[in-house]
Amino acid sequence: MSAIVNLSQLHKDHGDFAERVFKMSGQDVRKCYQCGKCSAGCSVHIFNGMDVSPNRVMRMIQLGMEQEVLNTRSIWACVLCSTCTARCPRDIDIPRVMDALRIEAKKRGITQKFKNANVFHDVFMNSIIKYGRVYELGLFIGLKLKQSGNLFADLEMGVPALINAATRLPKFPPKVKNPDEIRKIVENCKRIEGEK
Ligand code: SF4
Ligand code: SF4
Repeated sequence: MSAIVNLSQLHKDHGDFAERVFKMSGQDVRKCYQCGKCSAGCSVHIFNGMDVSPNRVMRMIQLGMEQEVLNTRSIWACVLCSTCTARCPRDIDIPRVMDALRIEAKKRGITQKFKNANVFHDVFMNSIIKYGRVYELGLFIGLKLKQSGNLFADLEMGVPALINAATRLPKFPPKVKNPDEIRKIVENCKRIEGEK
């Protein structure tokens, strides 16, 4: 059964949401005229990885369906490949919109729908902040511990990955020239984000 949407009420309550998304992403979603070309080219959507198609995500923003769109799995499932952007006749950079929605969802603690993507984001960023670039072995261990609390969970599936990690990946954290510079970049990004 499809939900009944009260457009007047939505606009009254959340009419400025498209404007806020514009400020966060630099993309004016109001230009979208729902041709659907983005969704037709999105392989994640085509293979059922999304609960709401990309063009519907755009429409939900236009309608100010803030809570609903921030609660979709689609914003976390998007792999930021930009196929949709290449197809969009209105030149909307959809991955940037998806990214802005993720940041907003994370700020509000709405991450339960795609918890693993969120955990990956945290472990990945911690590795960058700590070492200046990704330390793959540390990423692997950190992910296992954060996702299950058990390094040996899914051992059967993990054995090939462990063998691969032991033989091919660097055993020690990488050394970059100026890790402090990377930390400064991350801190500045966080500061700018906090000012929005
Ligand atoms: S391709 Fe662009 S204009 Fe068409 S539905 Fe997607 S975002 Fe909207
Ligand atoms: S960037 Fe995201 S929405 Fe666009 S085609 Fe790729 S996965 Fe789909």
